Amino acid sequence: MNKEILKKYARLAVRTGVNVQPGQLLVIRASVKDSEFIEYCVEEAYKAGAGSVMVNWSDENITHMSYEYQSLETLCEIPDWMEEKTKWEHEKKCCYLSVASGTPGLMADIDQEKMRKSMIANMMKMQKYQAYTMNNMGQWSVVALPNPRWAKRVFPDKTEEEAVDALWSAILTSVRVTEDNDPIEEWKKHDERLASHCDILNAHQFKALHFKNSKGTDLTVNLVKNHIWVGGGCRTPEGVFFNPNMPTEECFCMPDRNNVNGKVFASKPLNYSGKVIENFWFEFKDGVVVDYGAEKGEEAIKTLLETDEGSKHIGEVALISYDSPISNLNILFFNTLFDENASCHLALGRCYPENVEGGIEMDEQQLAEVGGNSSMNHVDFMFGTADMSVTGIKEDGTEVTVFADGNFVI
Ligand code: ZN
Ligand code: ZN
Repeated sequence: MNKEILKKYARLAVRTGVNVQPGQLLVIRASVKDSEFIEYCVEEAYKAGAGSVMVNWSDENITHMSYEYQSLETLCEIPDWMEEKTKWEHEKKCCYLSVASGTPGLMADIDQEKMRKSMIANMMKMQKYQAYTMNNMGQWSVVALPNPRWAKRVFPDKTEEEAVDALWSAILTSVRVTEDNDPIEEWKKHDERLASHCDILNAHQFKALHFKNSKGTDLTVNLVKNHIWVGGGCRTPEGVFFNPNMPTEECFCMPDRNNVNGKVFASKPLNYSGKVIENFWFEFKDGVVVDYGAEKGEEAIKTLLETDEGSKHIGEVALISYDSPISNLNILFFNTLFDENASCHLALGRCYPENVEGGIEMDEQQLAEVGGNSSMNHVDFMFGTADMSVTGIKEDGTEVTVFADGNFVI
């Protein structure tokens, strides 16, 4: 990719994504393979006034080797300094930029139990620090870069070089970066559009949404009382505006964890902990997954559901028109950051407290009382289709068509 486009994308990630403030600490999580892009991000952050920038480098092949060669005991041993480091970053009121470029399915050959147990050990130790980003206490943002293996997965018929170019082009289209535009201005307009959609949904205060399509999905999702639809950028308690996901096309809300009923069929594969799950479905009763199936990767679903009680309930429902820029590319990215923005989705696991009035100040118990879900997981899966209908049901039983033939009609 040419230098100028890379710099433009880095500028967008730093200014519009994480929006680092003067004097602030920026922590970047990235792959060693993306060092050129990261260098541009660091430079842009200092130009924006960042106090300091720290980069946490990783390499997915080395991560794979850790799972392959380390004993389970060693994998579950999370050093105290790791906790101390995170605590220190939060006390410093840092912001986080993650640059994702992982290979989907890379961990497919790793023993599922080993992976599950070490992930749980990690989450148990670090769980109390998740609230920082989940509650938007500091800015955070995720952007993606292609890598050759990921590109070949998305475009198997192209040569490696052509595949990388094609994935670059798809990513740049999704994040609204072109040779001759100002993507920062584009994102201002985009954020305003998403906000206006959320305003309409918030004014309706639907009691429930009913989803139906020809795939077999027939699902009623109740929403918590005083819910807040959120889309596009967010604000920290200090009022700093940032975009957590680039790209983003969704308006999302908080379902009632105990009031989801019916069957839902996934419309895209899910890449979960390095395994690809295909053609799967869930059946819900009173909010709990009571049955499920998959053509491929059923074991990984079991792992996911058995993580904790909250993993069997949903914490997020998101609406995205089928006719959206990412969906129109008609590409399966095998990466949730992109695929979730091409399609309506649900997330098994924890809710976003910002989706209910006063949610940010609630503890886990209070959130549970209003119907919010808690879990160590938050795993999105896609179920939107071109023929999806969504009906909003109001408190008095009145019905409003929200989606017809896959798209917003309100
Ligand atoms: Zn979402
Ligand atoms: Zn989600």
